[in-house]
Amino acid sequence: MQPKELLTLAEEFGSPLYVYDAATIEHQYNRLKNAFSKVENLRINYAMKALSNLSILKLMKKYGSGLDTVSIQEVQLGLHAGFSPDSIIFTPNGVSFEEIEAVAELGVQINIDNLSILEHFGTKHPKIPVCIRINPHVMAGGNENISVGHIDSKFGISIYQVPHILRIVENTGMHINGIHMHTGSDILDIEVFLYAAEILFDTAKQFKELDFLDFGSGFKVPYKKGDIETNIEELGKKLSKRFLAFEKEYGRTLTLAFEPGKFLVSEAGFFLAKVNVVKQTTSTVFAGIDSGFNHLIRPMLYGSQHSIENISNPKGKERYYTVVGYICETDTFANNRRIAEIHEGDMLCFKNAGAYCYSMSSNYNSRYKPAEVLSKDGKGILVSKRETFDDLVKNQIMIEV
Ligand SMILES: *Cc1c(COP(=O)(O)O)cnc(C)c1O
Repeated sequence: MQPKELLTLAEEFGSPLYVYDAATIEHQYNRLKNAFSKVENLRINYAMKALSNLSILKLMKKYGSGLDTVSIQEVQLGLHAGFSPDSIIFTPNGVSFEEIEAVAELGVQINIDNLSILEHFGTKHPKIPVCIRINPHVMAGGNENISVGHIDSKFGISIYQVPHILRIVENTGMHINGIHMHTGSDILDIEVFLYAAEILFDTAKQFKELDFLDFGSGFKVPYKKGDIETNIEELGKKLSKRFLAFEKEYGRTLTLAFEPGKFLVSEAGFFLAKVNVVKQTTSTVFAGIDSGFNHLIRPMLYGSQHSIENISNPKGKERYYTVVGYICETDTFANNRRIAEIHEGDMLCFKNAGAYCYSMSSNYNSRYKPAEVLSKDGKGILVSKRETFDDLVKNQIMIEV
């Protein structure tokens, strides 16, 4: 979106503000769909933990997406937004047996990533089909906090334990209808992805009644010009071909599923915050904004580098800034960043603010969560209100002491 459009939205809805561009989401959705157009049955399940606003879910549904969920509350939000239970998959890790049972009772596909739960579930509900999340033990690049396929990962059932899975299936008579992997965010190299896919195919051969293979996600998106991103078109070409060959080998048609979060919404999001203060110190120039890691924690949590543009002065001469938040502890968004000259009162725009930004926000320092606006067909539509004092106190019980 253009600086002017964003600035107008900030004036109308106030700051800090999240803005999501519907056209970008649709574009990314169609890119993935078109990359795999040769596959007869393709399923894209949006990983809603990235951004779970109900209006975003509605958009995804309109584009033809299903949902990937990780908690029963996400399942409930999905149902509330109008998704049918059979368009939702539940891929939890470390949740209670009761939660998995409750989700299965809603008619949602469950995905189990643990042998003890598999055995318990298969014994109690042998008639409910289950998908299995395997861990292919592939280091799929990226950041160590978000790589989830390697040997020490808590996710998935190790491929070395497939014989144990098969024994449980035989003993309980349960039906495994899908095999799943998610090797973590930020796959730099499609060869690594294809290598992990081979492991999934090998595993799949050992199960005779599969309906789908789920390749998870982890597609890398660019954060700035020149960044490496997953070449979805090339991956689509290569993986589709291999998938079609596998279907022949397997002897029945299968659904190919993905569950992207970041790929669909990261670049569609813009976070707008106003500069409260420009502070010169002996070593740097700080730009202090009317927000902090309570609203956008990714730079502090795992060092993500969001591009920052001064949309009040987009053509200004660039200078070096350290952009910081107002939280009373270290709260740095960017160090030594070249940004068009900043004046107090200017509006800064953080890019790639669609995925894991609002959904990870909190009320730390007793601040309100920002409003969220969807930009669609040239209009800005409020899709969640800025919080108020009532939100801060609504669950608290103030006793007389
Ligand atoms: C978080 C998650 C995703 C989405 O990952 P992205 O990197 O945002 O695409 C997909 N599948 C599972 C199981 C997840 O937990």
